[in-house]
Amino acid sequence: MKEVVVLGAGYAGLKTVVLLQKKLKNNVHITLVDRNNYHYEATDLHEAAAGTQSASRITYPISDVINPQITTFIQDEVVKIDPDKKTVKLAGHEELLHYDYCVLGLGFVSETFGIPGAKENALPMTNVKEALAIYDHIIAKMKDYRTTHNPDDLQIIICGGGFTGIELAGALVDARASYAKIAGVSPDEIKITLIEASTRLLPMFSEKLAEYGVNLVKSLNVQLLDGSRISKIEPGKVIYKHGDDNEESLTAGTIIWTTGVSGNPLMEECGFDAKRGRVIVTDHLTDPKHDDIYIVGDVAAVMPPDGKRPYPTTAQIALAMADYTAEDIVSRIKTGKHEAKPFTYKSLGTVASVGNTRAFGEAMGHELRGYPASAMKKIIADRSLLETGGLKELFAKGRFDLYH
Ligand code: FAD
Repeated sequence: MKEVVVLGAGYAGLKTVVLLQKKLKNNVHITLVDRNNYHYEATDLHEAAAGTQSASRITYPISDVINPQITTFIQDEVVKIDPDKKTVKLAGHEELLHYDYCVLGLGFVSETFGIPGAKENALPMTNVKEALAIYDHIIAKMKDYRTTHNPDDLQIIICGGGFTGIELAGALVDARASYAKIAGVSPDEIKITLIEASTRLLPMFSEKLAEYGVNLVKSLNVQLLDGSRISKIEPGKVIYKHGDDNEESLTAGTIIWTTGVSGNPLMEECGFDAKRGRVIVTDHLTDPKHDDIYIVGDVAAVMPPDGKRPYPTTAQIALAMADYTAEDIVSRIKTGKHEAKPFTYKSLGTVASVGNTRAFGEAMGHELRGYPASAMKKIIADRSLLETGGLKELFAKGRFDLYH
């Protein structure tokens, strides 16, 4: 009997477990560990943060997809992986976990690039708890305004105008009228500002498509301060420099941090050869020094055959890595050998939403704008739900409002 330990029930980890359960009925026991007893669709966190989707809509219980005859789920915090002893230490369990194969899918954390005050004074958005804390904070500020009449309470600043910042701005626009009602003001008094260092936003898209996306966001009464490098965050204040100009600042009741993410710091802490929480993996998605450890999702860096930079870390590649990892583990358990083929990846495209009914992006070589883009975004989300959560989660949480 082989023991497979999967750490993290995100896109990569949970899909690996679901596929292993389907492919191996005997000869294997799987232990899955996550700090939460639910899986969350991290690609929808901005909607929970804005309050346009409830937390229950973007999560489902891990137990829904676990086959207890093969898999044991443990809700706990992973604190140490010892690749030489092949053990995993959990915070709440004395006994160590032992594995024949370990799959590391511990995901991403917020990256503040050492900017003073960013950790202390801006709200990150990397998991459900943080997303809900943002929502609660915004609502509290709207309520405060009723007594303070301080315009800062109505100001929301998003630090970072990348993919996540743009999607968050779109969701906040959708929620603007409901915030205004709570504050007792008109929706256009709720100010949303994006502060971004670069002047060429959304580099994953062609210049024309990125320009479309930026203009779309601006047309929704979102202020964009591009070419503005944030130097410091103080309580209620973002300090930034526009080009060579002197420092400027903007005050706000809500400051949200979306400038970027890195892989889980546990990777470095456990001695893996990681940079910003990411390990450059082998063709079989294993750790270069430990062939029995698979590193998948945002903690992995996969080099394209002819590229100099790894593929961007996305849910899409995390799911593709899960497909490959499950195949490879099955092959090794059955034949003792790796899958013959190395991991290859072809992106199906990227679509950014700007609220529930607006989007833009590129899929299968076509640039999409407006309704087709928005429908495509929902189809991509539904496919991920179906593949990992099955029909039950698709019917309960799927996006069927394609015709809005
Ligand atoms: P995750 O999904 O982050 O899962 C990691 C899991 O590990 C979590 O369940 C967590 O609870 C658990 N965990 C972490 N540390 C520990 C620990 N110490 N102990 C126990 N458990 C632990 N990608 C796309 O492809 N398309 C998009 O449109 C897109 N939009 C996005 C929008 C937003 C707002 C954000 C934030 C991200 C978006 N992404 C998108 C990126 C995508 O969400 C990530 O690339 C993806 O979630 C990575 O998957 P993963 O399996 O590596 O990790």
